[in-house]
Amino acid sequence: MQKNGKIGVTTENIFPIIKKFLYSDHEIFLRELVSNAVDASQKLKTYASLGEFKGELGELTVSVKIDKDNGTLTISDRGIGMTTEEIDKYINQIAFSSANEFLDKYKNDANSIIGHFGLGFYSSFMVSKKVEIITKSFKEGADAVKWSCDGSPEYTIEKAEKPERGTDIILYIDDENKNFLETSEIDKLLKKYCRFLPIPIVFGKKTEWKDGKSIDTEEDNIINDTNPLWTRKPSDLKDEDYKKFYQELYPFSDEPMFWIHLNVDYPFKLTGILYFPQIKSNVDMNRNKIQLYSNQVFVTDSVEGIVPEFLTLMHGVLDSPDIPLNVSRSYLQSDHNVKKISNHITKKVADRLEEIFKNDRTQFEEKWDSLKLFVEYGMLTDDKFYDRAQKFCLLKNTAGRIFTFEEYKTLISSNQTDKDGTLVYLYSSNKDEQYSYIGTAIDKGYDVILFDGQLDVHLAGMLEQKLEKSRFVRVDSDTINNLISKEESKEVNLTDKQKEELSEAFSSQLPKLDKTDFVIDYKALDEKEQPIQITQNEFMRRMKEMSAMQTGMSFYGEMPNSYNLVLNIEHPLIKKIMMDIDGKDKEAVSAYATESANIRQLIDLALLSNGMLKGEALNKFIKRNMAKI
Ligand code: ADP
Repeated sequence: MQKNGKIGVTTENIFPIIKKFLYSDHEIFLRELVSNAVDASQKLKTYASLGEFKGELGELTVSVKIDKDNGTLTISDRGIGMTTEEIDKYINQIAFSSANEFLDKYKNDANSIIGHFGLGFYSSFMVSKKVEIITKSFKEGADAVKWSCDGSPEYTIEKAEKPERGTDIILYIDDENKNFLETSEIDKLLKKYCRFLPIPIVFGKKTEWKDGKSIDTEEDNIINDTNPLWTRKPSDLKDEDYKKFYQELYPFSDEPMFWIHLNVDYPFKLTGILYFPQIKSNVDMNRNKIQLYSNQVFVTDSVEGIVPEFLTLMHGVLDSPDIPLNVSRSYLQSDHNVKKISNHITKKVADRLEEIFKNDRTQFEEKWDSLKLFVEYGMLTDDKFYDRAQKFCLLKNTAGRIFTFEEYKTLISSNQTDKDGTLVYLYSSNKDEQYSYIGTAIDKGYDVILFDGQLDVHLAGMLEQKLEKSRFVRVDSDTINNLISKEESKEVNLTDKQKEELSEAFSSQLPKLDKTDFVIDYKALDEKEQPIQITQNEFMRRMKEMSAMQTGMSFYGEMPNSYNLVLNIEHPLIKKIMMDIDGKDKEAVSAYATESANIRQLIDLALLSNGMLKGEALNKFIKRNMAKI
């Protein structure tokens, strides 16, 4: 009954197109063929359960075999098989109108072509010079058939010998793709794409070590776990199971902190397990990614566009047949189902965090350092998440005490409200570097938040917008009375000449520091306050910090760090200097400043308490002071 024919594609040259444009994604042919085999096996199971198939199911394994001598890779199943008519319908008549238009549009995106057209089977031509299907339907009395095609639109179909029901897909691997005849390569791909498929996949025999050699045993080598954790009932699972599964997914990683088992049936299907990892280093974060599956077939580990960006910091698996897999990212974002799924996940994550916070605040606080980046990222990028998280987002102060936003507000509102009624949140980004400023603030009865995380400054900016009449200022951004100004500051009664003299005296003694500018400022502070302080304007500093994290603002990033050298003109030491230089000309002031060790010393001490006295300047300072002992 040999029959020849032409595959029903409107574009005659579909194969060259497949070969050419699908180049980068060659390996997915294996995923497509093994999933077809798994589908065929599962369909048979369904028919059996419905009573439409009454024969023996037997073992429904799928096997993958390499025959190096013949240059073939064969994928076999014991599923429903196909009759001649079915081959004609499902394989020969690939129905795609407007193919040219589509191929044109997506020519750089292999996945989209394959998915859109159900070209799953045809992806085998990416790696084969010839493909054969030998198949026998489960239907009673069906004959075995062999379909063969060498990559041109011509195919042959003929009767075949096949005792058992099911399908063998035989790929004659072409010369450019010989790597797909290597055991190690196929093993790697099966583990990547097929690791959690629901039907056992056999690839060769299990091996064991004997006399220093690896030899085959009698036992089939099953490469997959057919019943992965996310498909099981949460009530049947223990913490240990979740931890073990995490280790399987990400060997050698630290234990996860918490997890969420997702299980939705309606209005979309979604299962999965998401883990909150311990965040210790960026390496781990980038290495361990959420894996996306569709009915247990691995699709990708780049889930951007499917889950909100901040959730990509989580680890684990998501499985949903309702996510359109093979379309471009931009399409994904506008997809209705994807939006719903993404919102659902965000909500579940917020629910879980809130639940832990409410039921076990101690544990939540202990893990806060790892959770913080994640929660802040979410609050900054997702308004809905912000609304939820503001209840459990925590602030830690420099003494290590932890508060919710609400609690912290209550703590500081009586003492840290300025004369305009604005609540001033003081923070430090580095406890050591800003030690003396923190001390001054605490002596004054203020509290200081520790904001030393990557996103803290961004969060501060956001909170200023969200919270009413609130301002965040770093402890070293101004003198203590100006940080939270409670009364009008005292006027500075200096003539221009006096300012000039002071400026000359101090700027002539400033050491040259790389990328650092100083502006001399004069303030009439209490005489007990420091004679000289270094502060850095909050706004400018934040701009610089933010520009370091985003492009397009490099203008701020390039600018030198600008500091204020604040002179307290009420302090006796400064007063004395002013008297000494009164009426002197520029040279004389500078000569005086060089001679008077005090000015140098004052500047160096101020720099030192800011952690800014370094290198040569530090060395000189030490030598000078040693000599005095
Ligand atoms: P899709 O799987 O997306 O429908 P494919 O091109 O991969 O597209 O397959 C087309 C059709 O061919 C399948 O829907 C199925 O009916 C049939 N088919 C493919 N492989 C097998 C198989 N191993 N056993 C039985 N039928 C198969």
